[in-house]
Amino acid sequence: MRTLVLEEFGRMALADHPVPDAAIGEVLIRVAYTGICGSDIHGYTGHNGRRALGQVMGHESSGTIEGFGPGDHPRGLALGDAVTFNPVVLPLEDRLEFADREQHSPRKSVIGVDPTRHASFADYIVVPAVNVLRLADGMPVEHGALVEPTAVALHAIRRAGVTGRERVLVVGGGPIGQSVVLALQALGVAQVFVSEISPVRRTLLEEMGTTVIDPSAGDLLVALGRHGGPVDITIDAVGSTRSLADALACTVLGGTICLVGMGEPQVRLDAFAISTAERTLVGSFTYSARDFADAAALVADNPLTADALISRVIGPESADEAFTNLANGDDIPGKVLVAFAPTAEFAR
Ligand SMILES: [Zn+2]
Repeated sequence: MRTLVLEEFGRMALADHPVPDAAIGEVLIRVAYTGICGSDIHGYTGHNGRRALGQVMGHESSGTIEGFGPGDHPRGLALGDAVTFNPVVLPLEDRLEFADREQHSPRKSVIGVDPTRHASFADYIVVPAVNVLRLADGMPVEHGALVEPTAVALHAIRRAGVTGRERVLVVGGGPIGQSVVLALQALGVAQVFVSEISPVRRTLLEEMGTTVIDPSAGDLLVALGRHGGPVDITIDAVGSTRSLADALACTVLGGTICLVGMGEPQVRLDAFAISTAERTLVGSFTYSARDFADAAALVADNPLTADALISRVIGPESADEAFTNLANGDDIPGKVLVAFAPTAEFAR
């Protein structure tokens, strides 16, 4: 089968590996689509130190079930089912203790991050059956690749305590910020503001019905003042000193900021903007199994938005070029999917 191997930082190449065997309790998936995540780009450049050379990355995927482990008939799954998978894999002994907070298991392995596992920039992948989720009937298979980033988004807004009545600012309108918008709108949040520097992304976000602000055009809080002033909750989908400063400045006293972007491993922040202003700063990373399942339903219920969030579908042979271009700041509004077994023709 074809795999995309990170041969050196800044270069990925197609390689040939044997199709993996599903062991007991595992499912063999024929990968249809795998999305390129910002963390993959930073792994590709070597920037975040969270990917290793020789690794096959990929954690935002959909496909069809091609086989089961010997003697297995996992609950609710059948050959040929269109599925996605939750990349957060727990050892058996942790599953009970960390139920509903699987991401807290210190022994978890995240498919696509863990260098010892071949992940889903490949024709096939083997995944524990408990991590496999059947797509809703009629859901386009390519939308299944959006479930993972939507789960990241849904978990972040749950961490921030969004109930639906708040005014919410999203700092950073890239794919995670866009998924946050999808999740906020699905929760009924009427006033969503997005700060984004890229014009093509701003256009996409405007089409999604949000109020979009260009932070490079002037002070963000001043711009927000034309739309009712500071917000109750801010989701920082960038994660830099600059974005956190914007997030703190634009959130009301006593409000909440959720840090989900991982742009910089270290940031400086104004301590008084948290202490004397009594703001709450919460962190968010991945999702629970429940968040993941809820995100799948959310994507299934919003096919038009899901469609709008996929900007480009490319073949594996073009992946290295796409990674290079994305790393160099290629201005693509939404998600790029690598199609290993496309189920539809695309004109994007
Ligand atoms: Zn990701």
